[in-house]
Amino acid sequence: MAKRPIVRIDEELCNGCGLCVTPCAEGAIEIVDGKARVLKEELCDGAGFCLSVCPTGALTVEEREAPAFDHAAAEALMAQRGPTYIAQTCFMCKGSEDQVPLVPCRFQGSSLWVCTHCLPRLIHG
Ligand code: SF4
Repeated sequence: MAKRPIVRIDEELCNGCGLCVTPCAEGAIEIVDGKARVLKEELCDGAGFCLSVCPTGALTVEEREAPAFDHAAAEALMAQRGPTYIAQTCFMCKGSEDQVPLVPCRFQGSSLWVCTHCLPRLIHG
């Protein structure tokens, strides 16, 4: 095994809400016994798209020894799962990303999505 970026889940912070499961296109994250877990590390590419949806900050990407990312296994699982897209919403106006572009942000210790209409208000008050 070699060192590479991979998702780390802080069990103390994880509340088992499951919001991180769908954004993980590779299907690496599952909820087991009320906690998010990376059951097959070879399915996690370490890209970290799950980080911004976690309401508790339980997800980080760390550099550590892990099995190499398995493209073929991830693609096979994605094909088996089919489309899993769920539109995110702006935490301020509740607008959907189907209506306006969203960007990830940290606000009061939480990882959230904010739309480009609300972003100036968030920055400047
Ligand atoms: S989004 Fe965060 S709190 Fe929710 S299940 Fe995933 S790691 Fe746990």
